[in-house]
Amino acid sequence: MSLQPLVVTHPLVQIHLTAMRRAETPSSEFRWHLQRVGELLFTVASRALETEIVSIQTPMAATEGHRLIRPIVLVPILRAGLGLSEAILPLVPEATVAHIGIARDEETAKPRTYLTKLPACLSRADVFVLDPMLATGGSACMAISQLKMAGAERITFLCVVSNPIGLEALYEAHPDVPVVTAAIDDGLNDQAYIMPGLGDAGDRCFGT
Ligand code: URA
Repeated sequence: MSLQPLVVTHPLVQIHLTAMRRAETPSSEFRWHLQRVGELLFTVASRALETEIVSIQTPMAATEGHRLIRPIVLVPILRAGLGLSEAILPLVPEATVAHIGIARDEETAKPRTYLTKLPACLSRADVFVLDPMLATGGSACMAISQLKMAGAERITFLCVVSNPIGLEALYEAHPDVPVVTAAIDDGLNDQAYIMPGLGDAGDRCFGT
């Protein structure tokens, strides 16, 4: 592995992740914990966003504040990425939400794109690709390639659970893309599910 992901070991991230991992956690609670992890991971992932100084007036006095220099684009990989974008959007309400729909062929475990909806501002934007699970890395690599082809230059990949196989694949294809994650699990089973993981994040999020 050429680059190390940023693993967020903050205790709040880890207790919410533990609740997500429990097989008995129902969808409503799974979604809620996923949103809390998403907020915390995004807070870390966005720590180096550039700002500029703006003059403002408080009720008491004139002072200076900050505003983001570049637009933010959130790119949830459908479906499970929606659980993360829902959590992150309230933190950056002016962000644009692009969508990339990638389904995993259950027999080959290979990704297939079925929807791409991207904004025009990609080349100027700080882009955050969101998927709770980095398994083989196939979906992440495909989504990031599409974003780069559409002009994106500053991309961060944010996931809740990763594993060495997916991280290796992602770094090999896109060594310029930093990864922020809450965990690096052991690996994949023979159906390409992360072990110990948390099961199918989309199914658990949406109760399907
Ligand atoms: N996608 C999931 O939702 N879970 C996994 O373990 C792997 C891919």
